[in-house]
Amino acid sequence: MIPALFASLLFLTAAMAQESAAPVVDVVLLDQMGNSLPVQAVKKVIKTDEEWRTQLGNGEVYQVARGKGTERPFCGAFHDTKQTGVYSCVCCDLPLFRSDAKFDSGTGWPSFFQPVAKENVVTEIDRSHGVTREEILCARCDAHLGHVFSDGPPPSGLRYCVNSVSLKFGPQATE
Ligand SMILES: [Zn+2]
Repeated sequence: MIPALFASLLFLTAAMAQESAAPVVDVVLLDQMGNSLPVQAVKKVIKTDEEWRTQLGNGEVYQVARGKGTERPFCGAFHDTKQTGVYSCVCCDLPLFRSDAKFDSGTGWPSFFQPVAKENVVTEIDRSHGVTREEILCARCDAHLGHVFSDGPPPSGLRYCVNSVSLKFGPQATE
């Protein structure tokens, strides 16, 4: 009884120590069919600048996703795509947007009226370029995705304006 209690205390202490070392975040992952799983805590993906450059290269993907850049409109791979599937984070694969939330905003950037789950996309006030905007970031790795505006279509009235290079597309499995 007592050794068991001691062992479980040790386990708890170890688990807590590990937790404080690696920050966690609540996100929604998808099953193989693309259905949302319950909200779960996952470790944040934290890499050095060097590691990101190794993974992403030094080109536009790195400049936009890690350097908060913006790709030119009407040039991105996904501004005009209508295929069914899921758009995930180019840096850490977290599912971010579903194709059924995509709409043609006419802006030249892929636009969505809602994320896969509110947990997966976080916002931060961005005061760069003399304007106040709401930046959108991947909740798991803090990749820059784009900005969210309040001129979107129903049901949300929001427009998530995303850089194609911040996204990876996975077509839905068809049976
Ligand atoms: Zn990410």
